[in-house]
Amino acid sequence: MATIGFIGLGNMGGPMSANLVKAQHRVTGYDLAAAQVAALSEQGGQGASSIAEAAAAGDIVVTMLPAGPQVRAVYLGPNGIIAKAKKGALLIDCSTIDVETAQLVAEEAAKAGLEMIDAPVSGGTIGAAAATLTFMVGGADAAFAKARPILEKMGRTIVHAGPSGAGQTAKICNNMMLAVSMIGVCEGFALAEKLGLPAQTLWDICSTSTSQCWAMTNYCPMPGPVPAAPSNRGYTAGFTAANMLKDLRLSQQAAGTAAAATPLGAAAANLYQLFVDGGRGGLDFSAIMQMVRRNENSA
Ligand code: NAD
Repeated sequence: MATIGFIGLGNMGGPMSANLVKAQHRVTGYDLAAAQVAALSEQGGQGASSIAEAAAAGDIVVTMLPAGPQVRAVYLGPNGIIAKAKKGALLIDCSTIDVETAQLVAEEAAKAGLEMIDAPVSGGTIGAAAATLTFMVGGADAAFAKARPILEKMGRTIVHAGPSGAGQTAKICNNMMLAVSMIGVCEGFALAEKLGLPAQTLWDICSTSTSQCWAMTNYCPMPGPVPAAPSNRGYTAGFTAANMLKDLRLSQQAAGTAAAATPLGAAAANLYQLFVDGGRGGLDFSAIMQMVRRNENSA
């Protein structure tokens, strides 16, 4: 049994921390929202009343926060994780954030004698609940080896991507490819609809043809062919369009830093920006089908 501090108990952190409790670890959790802390207590975890309390409670501290600014706020400063963690603690940040923040916080942790990895995830809230997430890890070999048994209680595929920041790099590349493929699938289904080809017929053909991809076969944005997809429940998230936009912005920020041309990634970021600006950021990211289907992007 390990003692674990867990900060950020939202859509992802809630079920992830619950899976650590189920695995018989002693989990002390904190979130700005008291209801999330209460939910962890109901699952058998311990509630903390501050970042400092949760950070000091674990040999391992896990965070699952919205974005880079929250990660900086929670890790740095006199009452942050780095200042309050136990000597020799291992810090695991599972949030999806910019590569620079991931590396900066890991450097600050190292200065304080603490090991840290970035370990963003893929698999969404379903994967978080089922403990089938994929973890993409950046950090030193020793820290990765120490973290692996804990990550295995929350996920199924654990990949050491490279040094600090490499997990975030993998994550933002993955999501940029996902957004581009999702929009491509939307355009195909919207075109087929206009040409009079039923969605199910297109899916039956394309799901075993060269356009096959996860966005189509597991998460089809057109209502009908994939019953469990958000498109069949009014596009409730899932993974929100606002979060996809956040990740696309991270990809564009990284592309700018690396002087990499990602024109389709840039186009995807623009389309999701229009969609979110239209007030639909809370819908699942596959709901961009609504915009493509109605030709709203040509406005
Ligand atoms: P969320 O908003 O549901 O949860 C974040 C939690 O952090 C909230 O409960 C919030 O109250 C808490 N928080 C924020 N600032 C805090 C602070 N200073 N101290 C303590 N708690 C604080 O978001 P989520 O969907 O759980 O996503 C978390 C991260 O995981 C994001 O980076 C997201 O991009 C990434 N992610 C999400 C999904 C998904 O499907 N939701 C999938 C993969 C990755």
